[in-house]
Amino acid sequence: MSSFHVLIAGGGIGGLCLAQGLRKAGISCTVYEAAPGIVQAGYRLHMNATGGNALKQCLPDNLYELYMRTSRTTPRREAFVLIDDQCQEIGTRPHLGPDNDPRRPHTAVNRRTLRQIMYSGLDDTVRFGQPVTGYEEHGDKVRLLLADGTSAEGDVLVAADGLHSVIRRQRLPQIPTVDTGLRSLSVRVPLTADLVASLPDILFDGFVLALGPRNVSLAFGAYQPRRPVAEAAAELAPEAAIDDVDPYLMMNCVIDETSAYLAGIPDLWTATGDELHPVVREAVRDWHPALTELAERLDPSTLAPMSVRRLEPVDTWPTSRITFLGDAIHAMPPTFGSGANTALRDAACLAQALERATTDKSDLLTEIAAYERDMRAEVWPIFRASADPRAIDQADFLPDGVPVVNR
Ligand SMILES: Cc1cc2nc3c(=O)[nH]c(=O)nc-3n(C[C@H](O)[C@H](O)[C@H](O)COP(=O)(O)OP(=O)(O)OC[C@H]3O[C@@H](n4cnc5c(N)ncnc54)[C@H](O)[C@@H]3O)c2cc1C
Repeated sequence: MSSFHVLIAGGGIGGLCLAQGLRKAGISCTVYEAAPGIVQAGYRLHMNATGGNALKQCLPDNLYELYMRTSRTTPRREAFVLIDDQCQEIGTRPHLGPDNDPRRPHTAVNRRTLRQIMYSGLDDTVRFGQPVTGYEEHGDKVRLLLADGTSAEGDVLVAADGLHSVIRRQRLPQIPTVDTGLRSLSVRVPLTADLVASLPDILFDGFVLALGPRNVSLAFGAYQPRRPVAEAAAELAPEAAIDDVDPYLMMNCVIDETSAYLAGIPDLWTATGDELHPVVREAVRDWHPALTELAERLDPSTLAPMSVRRLEPVDTWPTSRITFLGDAIHAMPPTFGSGANTALRDAACLAQALERATTDKSDLLTEIAAYERDMRAEVWPIFRASADPRAIDQADFLPDGVPVVNR
């Protein structure tokens, strides 16, 4: 099996991690990514040990350490905090999933930084600007079709092309995409020293969700790296192209698509940041002064609309040389901060399965079937739970649920 080659559709969170894992295992692969490079798509990602352990397995030691050092500092409480629109605490609950390690527990990363770290050393493996359009099966081989009319052949094709996966649509067209009707305006607020000093401590307690009237919510997560990103990159991976990142507060304003706040926006997807800024301002107009101040001080050039969509979980599917990871098969709403963690988990498990199939001479389809079975066993409970509209149940948040431990 020395010429064994893996085709990966999509170079997002899961696709890049898989490429690193395969490279470590000595397995040849190529990633086909539609975007022209590592473009900005979302801001902060909450991480737990499900994702952290996968990165530890797949990345070289220096890049894993870079991920840890560029992740955010441990807050005084490491919790999911629920507050009301007046910044009054409703309760807290522990984050979902296991801690990363005792010294550096649950953490969060800047999404683009994590992707730049995972891309490091993969220049020959990742083809940017190469959208995939479908595939053909030829006996023991798979042919991946590309938008420019060319194609590539391999032994396995991994759909890592996200929620709208063209590979899944061809292979499992029966899986519907569900629009939850929620729209999210994602934005960064630069964390200057004076702003940090003026904000209530509770906004730095972990992942904070403020529930307001008229079905509006604001989610917050601070990104203050353990070490300045450029400094850590220069020390640990000087050859990698990793941009510096100033500390920021990620803010997601979630609004129902039918909300009056969106009435003045004819097309959410073409609206500019300056056009969207008043939507956030109006949505939180009567909220606590610190929250209205944040709506004022956000950086409009970073305002990006998103629709909250998910896939319907399916119980099983026939195993073949075309398999899936991450959002391509289990896209879920961001409620539990688990999508990226589970995509990374999939990548690490699939790399191990393919390593067994190539080095232990175990049967390839048996290994893929076991990988898919384990994925359903481990990921489906959270996939199903996150689809429940009552996923954020106030009864799960206890007053004094997670104590203040440091800062
Ligand atoms: C607002 C928001 C906040 C979130 N917060 C968290 C969080 O805190 N923690 C967490 O764990 N998860 C979080 N998630 C979920 C997380 O972002 C996703 O689950 C994760 O990115 C999935 O990784 P993936 O590799 O499967 O897909 P993606 O990262 O979406 O990567 C898919 C890649 O495929 C490429 N692609 C698409 N179509 C094609 C094509 N035809 N040809 C070639 N390439 C293609 C795309 O350009 C993209 O690079 C959040 C999601 C959202 C929307």
